[in-house]
Amino acid sequence: MTAAIVGADSTSSQNSQRTHIRVVIQRQDDAASSAYWQRFRIPYRPQMNVISVLQEIQLNPVTEDGQKTTPVVWDCNCLEEVCGACSMLINGKPRQACSALVDKLPDPIVLQPLSKFPVIRDLVVDRSFMFESLKRVKAWIPIDGMYDIGPGPRMAEEIRERMYELAKCMTCGCCLEACPQVNARSNFIGPAAISQVRLFNSHPTGKMHASARLEALMGPGGLHDCGNAQNCVQVCPKNIPLTDSIADMGRAVTAHAVKRLLDF
Ligand code: SF4
Repeated sequence: MTAAIVGADSTSSQNSQRTHIRVVIQRQDDAASSAYWQRFRIPYRPQMNVISVLQEIQLNPVTEDGQKTTPVVWDCNCLEEVCGACSMLINGKPRQACSALVDKLPDPIVLQPLSKFPVIRDLVVDRSFMFESLKRVKAWIPIDGMYDIGPGPRMAEEIRERMYELAKCMTCGCCLEACPQVNARSNFIGPAAISQVRLFNSHPTGKMHASARLEALMGPGGLHDCGNAQNCVQVCPKNIPLTDSIADMGRAVTAHAVKRLLDF
C-alpha cells in the first residue's frame, strides 16, 4: 500500500489554496497486533510540521470517513531535531517529524513507524538495540576518579572540529533504517555506533577504552558486517560523515588486529 500512496498526487505548490491536509497513517495497537491503515483529513494551517498534524489528529481522532478512533500515538521531545525521538518514515523516508514541514511534503502525507525496530504502538518504536550497541562499544568518556585532577587534556582544534560533527549523533535510528545490513537475520551494530567509536577513540581521555571498542567492532555483528551500501550517509539528518567513520574504523581495526598478532 505504501508504494501506491507514496508519490501519489504531487507536492502542493499552491499552499495558499489548501484548506485540508490528507494524512495516511500505519497504525498498530501494540507490539503483538497486526498493522492497519487509517486515513485522516485535517484543516490546513500555514507552517505546520508533522508533529502539529499529529496534534491536530489527537485533538479530534476521527478518520476521513467519519469514524471515531483512538488518538494516534507518537513520541517527541525537543522539537528541534536534537533528541531523535520523533523519527519515523515520512512518505517512505526516515526522518524527524519535527523538521518535516507540511508545505514541503507530498499530498497525502504517509506516516509509518521505522521498520527496523519493534513497534510499541502506532509510530513509537523501541530503539533499545541502538543504546545496547552504544554500551557494547563503550561509547562514553571514563571520568571516574578524574574529578579532582584539574582540567582534562586539550585536543587539537582540527581534531575537535572534526569530532564535533560526530558528536551531533542523536541516536535517531535513520541510518539503521536505511541500511540493508540491519535486518531480522543480522546483528549488525549499525553505522551510528561505529561512528561513535571513532569519536570516543579520538578523545584524549576516551582512548583509555580504545582497544576494547575496537575489539567490540571486530566481534560478531561488528564492522565487518557493513555491506558498503552507503545509504546511511544519505539519510543522516545531521550530515555525519558515516562512511568516512566506517572507513576510518576499518583501518583502525586492521591496525589493531596486526598489533594484537605481533604482541602475541
Ligand atoms: Fe541518526 Fe545520523 Fe546518528 Fe544515524 S548517525 S543515528 S542517522 S544522527
